[in-house]
Amino acid sequence: MIPARYAAYCPNCGGEAESERLAAGLACARCQPDPQKPPLPGALARFAAQEKALADWTRYFTAQVGAPPWPLQRAWAARVVQGRSFAMLAPTGIGKTTFGLLTALWLAREGRRSYLVFPTRLLVAQAAERLQALGASFTAYTGKPREKEALLEGERPIGLFTVAFLYKNHARLPRPVDFLFVDDVDSLLKSARNVDRVLGLLGFAPEDVEKGLALVRLRRKNPEEAERRAERLREKARGVLAVASATARPHSPRVHLFRELLGFEVGTPSFALRKVADLYEEAFWLSQEELWARGAEWAGRLGKGGFSSSPGTCRRRPPWTSPASSGPGASGPGPIWSPRRSRPSGGARRTTSWGSPPGATPWPGAWTSPGASATPSSSGCPSSASP
Ligand SMILES: [Zn+2]
Repeated sequence: MIPARYAAYCPNCGGEAESERLAAGLACARCQPDPQKPPLPGALARFAAQEKALADWTRYFTAQVGAPPWPLQRAWAARVVQGRSFAMLAPTGIGKTTFGLLTALWLAREGRRSYLVFPTRLLVAQAAERLQALGASFTAYTGKPREKEALLEGERPIGLFTVAFLYKNHARLPRPVDFLFVDDVDSLLKSARNVDRVLGLLGFAPEDVEKGLALVRLRRKNPEEAERRAERLREKARGVLAVASATARPHSPRVHLFRELLGFEVGTPSFALRKVADLYEEAFWLSQEELWARGAEWAGRLGKGGFSSSPGTCRRRPPWTSPASSGPGASGPGPIWSPRRSRPSGGARRTTSWGSPPGATPWPGAWTSPGASATPSSSGCPSSASP
């Protein structure tokens, strides 16, 4: 490889970096003078710390629950360690509450504060029972005055209460909150002002909320400018908000404050978690039997969920051969087929609210030719789809 210097390629500082260092998985010489040691504070260092925290969360979850987290729960945890707020739009039974309880417990080990908000006292009591079984230190409000006092004094790192409790006591609840989990956002949004209360717990002042409302209006006229201002405003967030919903049909326009101040939407129904690779093979001078054999081989490699389409017999000349040197008996170009990998569609593209879980291995791992975009039937042969 010819050594090269890239002007803005250091994964840590975004500055100039040498190709040898990049190939070795290192930051630039300024960011990581000693290759044996981790890089100085920067984007790469932050990423490494987040990966470490996520691995720690996964270990903790597995030990407490007795089973590893679902991929979706892990994707939510990745948001928490990145300090990003998000909506959990998933049907009942996917483990939203388990995720909330375990994440609060995990954070409490470092003395970080979490509130979990439920629609009813019964749900508070049920969640409290589960925390009790896990030996957690928490305060749950089920209607007793001393529970209320303990919550308002901030005696324990984890607080469980109802939407009604938040409504009445938000001004006296200790803040900021590191993790605010809302078990049912639809019940929270019955009072649109609860959005302000939640934002207040996360460190936003009333004037920030006013600015957020102005941004909701500005976004209709000038989305770019609104986004620029929103990014500055979002820096004031002091904790992560996670809202769960099975339906996500918020009616109040005030819910758009979540987008402006915390950078996520509640009303985007999307459940997709995909890992898709588009592949094609250039196969020339193959008989019908050989094509079928190639198809069978691909079907084996793709396994469950593969979809392939194969053209009929193709007798066209490969585009890189001259007429004189081509033909079945001629010495053609190296391998007759060359699988190419395009960007995984869906996985990397951010069309869904959470995309593929961070840290997921791209498939298939060994092939790397980013930028190559697959076009089916580039051989010029007429393609007849046969799944
Ligand atoms: Zn650097």
